[in-house]
Amino acid sequence: MRATRLISTGNVQTIDTDAPTRGDADIVVKVEAAGICGTDRHLYKGEFPSVANTILGHEFSGIVTDAGNSDLQIGTRVTCDPNTWCGACNQCRKGRVNLCVNNIATGIARDGGFAEYCAFPAHKAHVLPPDLNPLHGALCEPLACTLHGMDLGLPQAYERVIVIGGGVIGLLAVQLAKKAGAQVMLLTRSTAKQALGQSLGADRVAGSKDEALDQWPHGAELVVECAGVEATVSMSPSITHTGGRVVVLGVLPQGKQVAIEPFDLLFREIQMHYSFLNPFTHERAAQMIANASIEVAPLITRTISLEEVPAVIASDVPAGEVRAIAIP
Ligand code: NAP
Repeated sequence: MRATRLISTGNVQTIDTDAPTRGDADIVVKVEAAGICGTDRHLYKGEFPSVANTILGHEFSGIVTDAGNSDLQIGTRVTCDPNTWCGACNQCRKGRVNLCVNNIATGIARDGGFAEYCAFPAHKAHVLPPDLNPLHGALCEPLACTLHGMDLGLPQAYERVIVIGGGVIGLLAVQLAKKAGAQVMLLTRSTAKQALGQSLGADRVAGSKDEALDQWPHGAELVVECAGVEATVSMSPSITHTGGRVVVLGVLPQGKQVAIEPFDLLFREIQMHYSFLNPFTHERAAQMIANASIEVAPLITRTISLEEVPAVIASDVPAGEVRAIAIP
């Protein structure tokens, strides 16, 4: 089969490879759609830990072709929760499964969804409806991660929320904050992404910190950082209302330092939270995508073939692009 492997940092290729071997606990799916995430670009650049020679792709869904020892039916559409916690380490035993020291992430530490077929643990499959647009299944994983961020930030009705970054995570955060009843501003530089954010419910848009503070001089009770760059993490407290909270979803390269003023955080008691992965949120995300309570179609900018995946991962996100989805 064809599959896209991260051979090593800076070297990603679509090549011929063996079809996956199913382990006892696994199922096999024929991949229908696999999204290219900011994290794939971080993996390519060596900015996020990975395992050499792994087939990338951790945002995907597909049709079960081998149900193994599970009670799933062949032909069922499922989304893969890529994070396979051990259930036995100290963090898992405390319920902090996203901090599992033995987590094996499909598409990062074991072969993933940029492939015609993928084997993954059966208990990590969440069922999707047969009549769902197959592309939409690829958005379950980013929604599950965004749900965890919003579970930490807990936007309330009538609060002000600033979402930084108009990528898929930011545009999902905008929708979740609106569902909570908050007033939402999307802070992102691209005017096309600002317009998309407004069409998805953002009440206001800004292209910079100054534009945000011109509209809300005291900032927002909740700031959700979804850009993953130094400047936006550093600016987050400065657009947060006194007594408010920041949730950082964005991934910065390992070792990167960011300027934060502890005095300001202390004196204004700003809570800084970091949101990692999707603990117990994947089923909720699958249900929300299944019942169309979150709009995902506008987040899909284009579809590409597996042959195009390496070039897309190796380049910056083109202007205006939210999500490119590979169809193997
Ligand atoms: P993305 O498509 O790269 O979106 C990030 C957006 O941030 C871009 O669209 C860009 O839009 C905006 N941006 C960049 N620099 C900016 C600046 N200086 N000011 C304002 N906006 C800026 O990425 P994504 O897929 O949505 O993911 C977002 C981040 O979350 C990434 O770092 C990703 O690795 C991370 N992530 C984290 C988790 C988790 O579990 N914590 C899960 C998934 C993804 P403009 O050009 O409009 O500014």
